Amino acid sequence: MNEVAAPTRAPTEPGAEPCAERRAADPAQEVARLREAVLEKLCYSVGKDRNTASDRDWFIAVALATRDRIVNDWMLSVRAAYQENRRRVYYLSLEFLIGRLLIDSLTNLGLVEPMRAALAGLDIDLDKLRQVEPDAALGNGGLGRLAACFMESMATLSIAAHGYGIRYDNGLFRQTVTDGWQHEYPEDWLDFGNPWEFPRPEVNYNIGFGGVVESTPRDPGSAARIWRPGETVVAVAYDIPIVGWRGAQEHNFVNTLRLWSARAPDPLRLDAFNAGDYVGALADQVHAESISKILYPADSTPAGQELRLKQEYFFASASLQDLIRRHLTQNGDINTLHEKAAIQLNDTHPAIAVAELMRLLVDIHLIDWERAWEITQATFSYTNHTLLPEALETWPAALMERLLPRHMQIIYLINAKHLDHLRAEGMDDPGKLSALSLIDEHGGRNVRMGHLAFLGSHKVNGVSALHSELVKETVFRELHEIFPDRIVNKTNGITFRRWLFEANPHLTKLLGETIGRDFYDNPEALRALEPLATDLDFQARFAAARLANKTALAGLIADRMLIKVDPNAIFDVQIKRIHEYKRQLLNILQTIAQYNEIRAYPMRDCVPRVKIFAGKAAASYYMAKLIIKLANDVARVINNDPTVRDLLKVVFLPNYNVSMAEAIIPAADLSEQISTAGMEASGTGNMKMALNGALTIGTLDGANVEIKERVGDDNIFIFGLTAEEVAARRARGIDARETIAHSPMLREVLESIQDGAFSPDDRHRYAPLVDMLTYHDYFLVTADFDAYVSTQMNVARRWRDRKSWWRSAILNTARTGWFSSDRAIAEYAEDIWNVPVRAP
Ligand SMILES: *Cc1c(COP(=O)(O)O)cnc(C)c1O
Repeated sequence: MNEVAAPTRAPTEPGAEPCAERRAADPAQEVARLREAVLEKLCYSVGKDRNTASDRDWFIAVALATRDRIVNDWMLSVRAAYQENRRRVYYLSLEFLIGRLLIDSLTNLGLVEPMRAALAGLDIDLDKLRQVEPDAALGNGGLGRLAACFMESMATLSIAAHGYGIRYDNGLFRQTVTDGWQHEYPEDWLDFGNPWEFPRPEVNYNIGFGGVVESTPRDPGSAARIWRPGETVVAVAYDIPIVGWRGAQEHNFVNTLRLWSARAPDPLRLDAFNAGDYVGALADQVHAESISKILYPADSTPAGQELRLKQEYFFASASLQDLIRRHLTQNGDINTLHEKAAIQLNDTHPAIAVAELMRLLVDIHLIDWERAWEITQATFSYTNHTLLPEALETWPAALMERLLPRHMQIIYLINAKHLDHLRAEGMDDPGKLSALSLIDEHGGRNVRMGHLAFLGSHKVNGVSALHSELVKETVFRELHEIFPDRIVNKTNGITFRRWLFEANPHLTKLLGETIGRDFYDNPEALRALEPLATDLDFQARFAAARLANKTALAGLIADRMLIKVDPNAIFDVQIKRIHEYKRQLLNILQTIAQYNEIRAYPMRDCVPRVKIFAGKAAASYYMAKLIIKLANDVARVINNDPTVRDLLKVVFLPNYNVSMAEAIIPAADLSEQISTAGMEASGTGNMKMALNGALTIGTLDGANVEIKERVGDDNIFIFGLTAEEVAARRARGIDARETIAHSPMLREVLESIQDGAFSPDDRHRYAPLVDMLTYHDYFLVTADFDAYVSTQMNVARRWRDRKSWWRSAILNTARTGWFSSDRAIAEYAEDIWNVPVRAP
């Protein structure tokens, strides 16, 4: 690293904002330099004049000027990783839910205030430009957001890492709600270009599909074969530099998120074009490019479509070819790949990479099978994100044989050797062997991608303590018995830069003024807040910061929804994908119960609440869309009923995305984490809200369990069946008639829905929903209803005692430092990847 000429750095001196010491020695000079850079970009890159430039033009100019500051360090990082010949981490994920990057990049470079000042001198408002940036939504929800947080933390910890994914032309759909129903529209995030990316047309790989496999004449004893694909698609790289916290510091890495876009090898068939068939001439191009056209919008359920399998193989193959090329350029010998590369599979979506690496090693690099398998296992590790048996990815063997004939052979051979080995060890129970097989023989032959990822990896991890234990007991029970050391836990985390510093500058400023800025670099330093939790003066300042955030959110709600909400009410927030297991329905039923109470007992003193919902439903998920409609129907009735006297408001904010999360989370008083126990792998929304001082109402599910352990039982509201009780209860049956009969309040709520109280225009609208809850309540909404309602009453009681509430809220912020994604990544680095980390 010594030969690398480091750029001149400013001396370190504390400032008023995170990373302020990265400013130039003379702040005025820094501001002037930035202003000049922005004007230059506006003129020479955007091609606009100051007087005619739109906000979008200014945004592009500012983003490009910011990017320039990143690129220098990016080059140095690439060079340093090369010279130190580091073991590199490759994070393969079909989803990256990135969100906006402007403020994120400026924050990590320590340039927010200098850029604000530079623009103010031009009469341009940075916060306005912030809103112009499209929200990059190349993911559905938690899984994709985790990948984005991890990219930022890997850069922060100076891990030489590359993210690999797909550059979808259309990310997650834009949701509108008309008449209470969700509608989906394509998201046009690339329409005006993406100023953060660098197209790399020279970095491209051929990706084959279909065709035939021939034996090799080389060596009759070898496992190698020659695959002659019937179709070829080209993967072209686009790079986004990812700058970590204190990104301008010398030793920090700026990492690369490399996203692949699909192209046809010959975009235009001139013979067809010349013959007058203009559509046919372009057919190959359209067909090939469909692979990177859209993100599959399903969450928690596998898509099961041929195009989806093509996407998975397309990006896995391109990424492996790319990282092998890098390895060979530097090291020359494919045999040392596992020493220099650690590949993390984010869920089973990239699991086909296991078979693809075997193919590349055995067929192309002529490594013998056993050695290739050792390299493969030593290179890969796999993160499991779901327990739902129906959500575990499998692919019909027939489809795989047609699309990836060579890979199917390899999978059969991996399986045969695996089962032979088990039999040689004395296993003869056919039930066990079939559970351990890569091929599921029930109802046609299907390849179990989870099993393939498990076998091809040296470590498999769950994403919360509870989830990892359940992984051992359920989906991988038999494999865990045979490989008892393979499954480990890595509880998820979130980047505090985005979810505290950027989303909540009011609170960040207060914390810095109160406990100093150690927590900027060491989240555990938030503990210094604990003694202040009962300090009335600090409580007042904490409450004031929160009120400012709530007032801002109230403004947003007024603007978008024309609903007036009182910032002094409890903001009771459930924001996440709409899914039956997440139980928005339980929340809505309780909302109706409270509405009934307010009307029945107008004399009772009731705590004002605003129920805030946001989230998208998979387009094909009928029940989830009906739940959105119910939330909106209930909102309309309650918000327009004068007898409610503003004691209760219900808001469904359309088009939930990262930017909206950033606006809602700092304003949440109560965080709804009420999934059926055993079904939410971890959750990260729960961490974001607790960190920002919301109290959680939740079940003992996912990371809620660990949040409870850390914040303490008095500072969280836990209710409901445990994962074990859920399993026992389901075993007894999920007909809920008896449960409903025992709860007068629930009966009244269900009857009002049934009778059309919220759907006077269509009285039967919710019949399927009420039927489901009554006869087939798999998610145990009814079983947890009474406990949830009484816990919500505890919440209201607690809110009345504001000193006690603020104490708990402050302790939530003080005690959730552990949920930083830096902590999570440091654990992966040590236990799974075996790479060094360097704190910022
Ligand atoms: C954090 C986040 C999620 C995950 O939320 P959960 O409550 O953990 O399901 C989903 N979408 C967005 C936009 C997020 O920021």
